[in-house]
Amino acid sequence: MVTKEKTDSFEIQSFVTNRGAKVFSIPMQLFPILRGYAYLIVDENFSQPRYTLVDTGSVSAEANAQLEAGLKWVSEKLSKKIDFTTLNEVLLTHGHIDHFGGCYQIRQKSSVRIVIHELDLRNLTNYEERIVVVSKRLEQFLIEAGVEDNRRVEYLDLYRFTKSLGKSIPNVSTYQQVGDQLDRFKILHLPGHCAGQVVIKLDNFLFSGDMVLNHISPHQSPEHLTLYTGLGHYLESLDRLKEWAGDVELTLPGHGTLIHDLERRISEIKQVHQERLEKILDMLKQPRTIAQISSQLFGEVSGYNVLLAIEEAGAHVEYLYSRGYLEIVNLSEMESNHQTVPIRYHRIG
Ligand SMILES: [Zn+2]
Ligand SMILES: [Zn+2]
Repeated sequence: MVTKEKTDSFEIQSFVTNRGAKVFSIPMQLFPILRGYAYLIVDENFSQPRYTLVDTGSVSAEANAQLEAGLKWVSEKLSKKIDFTTLNEVLLTHGHIDHFGGCYQIRQKSSVRIVIHELDLRNLTNYEERIVVVSKRLEQFLIEAGVEDNRRVEYLDLYRFTKSLGKSIPNVSTYQQVGDQLDRFKILHLPGHCAGQVVIKLDNFLFSGDMVLNHISPHQSPEHLTLYTGLGHYLESLDRLKEWAGDVELTLPGHGTLIHDLERRISEIKQVHQERLEKILDMLKQPRTIAQISSQLFGEVSGYNVLLAIEEAGAHVEYLYSRGYLEIVNLSEMESNHQTVPIRYHRIG
């Protein structure tokens, strides 16, 4: 689950769909330990070439410069004027800062249409509000998860600091508003990893954002923190994707290496979660908090990965609890206390 990638290529690569659209992958250093891609699509099946950018990288100056340099590289290679002002549209896979952060510089330079699923719209247009709202929920979640007071303050500061790097972006459209104007781009909403996660199909290619990644299973957090996320939605989305994307021959993800066999990768990710759920059920023969489960599952992790680990454990516990596999052992303590208290879960039967 630690999104560290050393194996992927850090050069621009190009691909061609079965109907002749050219796709260029632009690698970016999104955060110190996270790399990822934006994809530039050049489609000459029209009287004028159509330039589409899928995802935009993070807000970091390094990623911003790499995105701009990537467009320039393609522009020179094809001898066409391609920059933020000549793009026809920016299609976002979901509302996480490592995918939409580059929109801030794009919006300063261009009025290009930026499109996201409506469930993630506020992540872009009301960014500061989101940090406040989610911080409050996260604080309550960390108490219930049994994270000690001093650590909780540390984790919340970390969350607020990382998130404070982003900014609100004005004038954003949704797939609900403009989806019918996207021609051959087909959009499927697959909530779970993020509320407004979509995948985008063009001909025989699929842009999967963080819905399906190679080598790591995409991060999960409890729906308790953000509605429409959560492991249950994610697993259902995997099944829907498998049905919908049977004709896909190449999957281009937001991070890591390309996926050539999507169906097999979907099965592998489902297997990871199944095994994790079984492991947790086994651990909960003895009552435990989510923090205890997290450290048992993921061991010693540091930095932002601590938060990711505890959210991942929380998503799995939430999945089991809401489906009747677990009970709370300290219900009377919860009832008699006005403050939120750590919850201890126990396997039923
Ligand atoms: Zn994401
Ligand atoms: Zn991502």
